[in-house]
Amino acid sequence: MIEVKNLTKKYGSNIAVKDVSFNIEKGHVYGLLGPNGAGKSTIMNIMTGCLASNEGTVTVDGHDIYEDASAAKSLIGYLPEIPPLYPDMTPGEYLEFIAKAKKTKGDRAREIRRVSEVCGIVEVSGKLIKTLSKGYRQRVGIAGALIGDPEVIILDEPTVGLDPLQLIDVRALISSLRQDHAVILSSHIMGEITAVCDYIIIMAFGEIVAEGTLDELEESRKGRTVTVVSRGGEIDYSEVKEILSEIEGVDYVLTYPRGDYIKSVIETKEGYDVQSDVERALEENESPVIEITTSRVSLEDIFIRLTTEAAEKKALESLEAEAKEESEKAEKGSRADTYSPFGTPYLEEDNDDDEAEEGEEAETESGSPEEENKETGGDEE
Ligand code: ADP
Ligand code: MG
Repeated sequence: MIEVKNLTKKYGSNIAVKDVSFNIEKGHVYGLLGPNGAGKSTIMNIMTGCLASNEGTVTVDGHDIYEDASAAKSLIGYLPEIPPLYPDMTPGEYLEFIAKAKKTKGDRAREIRRVSEVCGIVEVSGKLIKTLSKGYRQRVGIAGALIGDPEVIILDEPTVGLDPLQLIDVRALISSLRQDHAVILSSHIMGEITAVCDYIIIMAFGEIVAEGTLDELEESRKGRTVTVVSRGGEIDYSEVKEILSEIEGVDYVLTYPRGDYIKSVIETKEGYDVQSDVERALEENESPVIEITTSRVSLEDIFIRLTTEAAEKKALESLEAEAKEESEKAEKGSRADTYSPFGTPYLEEDNDDDEAEEGEEAETESGSPEEENKETGGDEE
């Protein structure tokens, strides 16, 4: 139905989406899951033709979203992250407006009645949108996406901000759409995605880090999760990570400082029971265990692990890029730059001893002496 192929989107030097490909088909609800900033909205904006990509293509039923925009867009209904609702319109007026904008053919009043029934907003169709609860407003937004009965429904964070009862209704509504549509929604909350989606695409830092059905994703991690709280004080949490990582059967370790305690989450390889080895190792290293539990790896664990790994990889890449930049600069013989969080040095090479002259409000870190720029992490020893 929709084929997304090798999408890449950059904002300056920030890569918001990196080589993302997937297909969505009728009869399923797909979930784009990822922490804030993962690139979900960017992908949805590209899929709906609201934003141009730097590379890659989107085709809807064979129609390219740019080359053949009107044919492609007529097959898509989109609820953006911030739905463009007009607060002084009633749902009825709003849907009328959308139907006109979409140039919906046939009996528009009938179509508006149809989507109002599907979304359960008939009883509020005469009230002003600004007086409606968040749950009803969200349903009006979804109704707008359904006008014209498009094949594909794209919903960006459709359940954000809803209370538990509204959640149940909106989830049921989304779930029912799969019968006649291909549906894709995004969320940063695992539970949202598992509640309605039958295929999950997990994203972090613009890349797909895992995808599959719920079962497939759970199958992909066959080990167990050991969660342990131990006493800190004598030992640093990063040392605990090292100690635990060396235990046989341990696949992956995350440690967090928690006041006087250290929390560690350990994933094991398949077929290992590491609990007693963990207890012994921590005991020997003066971080006695307060609490320890072993459980099956949950999808939540997988999500956390994948996004943490992606964050570590990203941090490493930017350190490497910085180091490379430094050494290139050293080769050129130019002076060291002030630190720039976006990796783009703001000094080229022209001005040699120009300090900022605008007084206190110049760039936050300008004028710092050269030796402060060495960030080799030498203080770890
Ligand atoms: P998500 O929807 O998963 O929270 P987004 O697609 O909104 O993520 O953002 C992905 C990345 O792109 C983020 O790093 C964000 O800061 C950046 N980004 C998004 N929109 C813009 C924009 N208009 N200009 C610059 N950077 C942007
Ligand atoms: Mg978003």
